Amino acid sequence: MAIPVFSVIAPIYNESGNISELYRRVSETMNAVGEEWEVIFVDDGSSDGSTDIIRQLAQNDPHVRPVIFARNFGHQVAVTAGLDFSRGQAVVMIDSDLQDPPEVIPDLIARWREGYEVVYAVRAEREGETWFKLFTAKLFYRVIYKITEVDIPLDTGDFRLIDRKVVNVLNQMREHHRFLRGMSVWVGFRQIGVPYKRAARFTGETKYPLRKMTRFASDAITSFSYFPLQLATYIGFLSAGISILAIPVVVILRLTGSQAFFGQATTLIAVLFLGGVQLISLGILGEYIGRLFEEAKGRPLYIVRESPEDFQK
Ligand code: UDP
Ligand code: MG
Repeated sequence: MAIPVFSVIAPIYNESGNISELYRRVSETMNAVGEEWEVIFVDDGSSDGSTDIIRQLAQNDPHVRPVIFARNFGHQVAVTAGLDFSRGQAVVMIDSDLQDPPEVIPDLIARWREGYEVVYAVRAEREGETWFKLFTAKLFYRVIYKITEVDIPLDTGDFRLIDRKVVNVLNQMREHHRFLRGMSVWVGFRQIGVPYKRAARFTGETKYPLRKMTRFASDAITSFSYFPLQLATYIGFLSAGISILAIPVVVILRLTGSQAFFGQATTLIAVLFLGGVQLISLGILGEYIGRLFEEAKGRPLYIVRESPEDFQK
């Protein structure tokens, strides 16, 4: 098969009910585009039979190139592996639960042909999400926008098309805690958004429970901002400032015989408040140090059990 012009990357973690439909809609869309293409299914340690479905598809269609992980490494790392194995001049990252309709890909390609190197899909509408997900997602994108130096566009997920030039740059960024939608903005290049309607999941449940969501959010923040570290400094200055003002006040109150600010309760509240602030600051430091430690170990980002070469006939 000739070298493809387009690569589609779909990370898969227990999506057995969605893969065939995803494959059908991606191949229909990509065949209509009329250029050589490939789809890279990255199996992120699935245990529900997704792996066999991917193997089967690869057997029947050389467009399908499977990357099968030795275990679950997480969504962002799975997409990264897809980037590493991709060969196209333009690469599309898409969720495999069909929340990102493959039919939007030609719109992204149209913008790419106009010369844009990063074409991200903006969620103009979202269907079938809980109010909790919608609220936390909205909050997340706004907080990230406020406290990071890169202006990550609001309400965009990983669904995007990136040019080979950008892929090559991203492939050199081997940080372990990855926030791809931030990284692909950080690199620069000509970027543009295309609005789309985010659908409900085709089948199955979200693979981002609250625990993974908070981890993802803290990865995003720590990868692109020192703000949490500075927060400790700000609060420190603030409470030091308040105490300096409070000292003369208390002295004067004492000298004039007032009983205000006496007693254990006041002391206890002050001690507990500062103790709390200190522990939180330590925790924030720990988050950064833990990530430093992770980087220092320099382990590979992921481990591949079966790669596309294993499927070539
Ligand atoms: N995913 C993955 N590894 C994980 C979690 C998720 O590869 O550890 C994939 C999942 O199969 C899906 C995509 O990442 O294709 C997005 O996950 P999901 O749809 O569950 O997230 P949500 O849309 O609910 O935020
Ligand atoms: Mg989803």
